[in-house]
Amino acid sequence: MARIYVDPGHGGSDPGAVANGVREADVALAVARRVVDHLRRHGMDVRMSRTGDTTKSLQARTNEANAWGADAYVSVHCNAAASASANGFEVWHTVFVDKSKGDELARAILRWLDELTPLANRGAKSKAGAGGRDYYHVIRETRMPAVIVECGFVTNPNDARYLASASGQAALAEAIARGVVEWAGLAWRPLEAPAPQPAPAPKPAAKPGPFADVPADHRFAAAIQWAKERGITVGYGDGTFRPDQPVTRAEVVAMLYRALHKQG
Ligand SMILES: [Zn+2]
Repeated sequence: MARIYVDPGHGGSDPGAVANGVREADVALAVARRVVDHLRRHGMDVRMSRTGDTTKSLQARTNEANAWGADAYVSVHCNAAASASANGFEVWHTVFVDKSKGDELARAILRWLDELTPLANRGAKSKAGAGGRDYYHVIRETRMPAVIVECGFVTNPNDARYLASASGQAALAEAIARGVVEWAGLAWRPLEAPAPQPAPAPKPAAKPGPFADVPADHRFAAAIQWAKERGITVGYGDGTFRPDQPVTRAEVVAMLYRALHKQG
């Protein structure tokens, strides 16, 4: 069973990039959680670097993935730039293309991001740092294929709106998960479409009762109907009977009189 370490970037004391009312740490966690759900339903063994808004060092994250023996490390981030016009997604992988399948994983995720989201495709990238080693910690310090998915720019108003939306997060997560599933050689199982809602059964028309406010299922409907038919009691001019209204002593006597004198 493939072991996938899913790493929502930042968290806790480190919100990541913040702009347009969007915090990178929040988007990363929301998207990563959905990625995890997808991977688990494909039978993958998944661990997350964090499941809440908590602080965790990069070293702790990569140590954990290495100790666990993950088959892939997927870090979820959002981008930021000084210019509000910068926009789109990109996926980072190791500069050592021959060393690992990280670049293949990056390209698989990138294809699905391109397919499933309306955001601009900035491509798969890698960057060398000191000594020609990978520049980014989680790519450099992991012993398995590792990618950093930059979902979009919080500094771009359009991207930010998409990143903060539930539908945007769902699409980003599906794209990332589909990339991982494809890379692992598994067939993607679409989420089950929600079962069509049966049309609500039409309410049976209420049987008319003796008065507008005494329906057929009133507990004294039969008695009131009986008294009405015999002229013992009458309704009000508006067709109501007002069954809970108190009755006066005079009315009781009048009803008795009518009952005893009008009947047979
Ligand atoms: Zn970040």
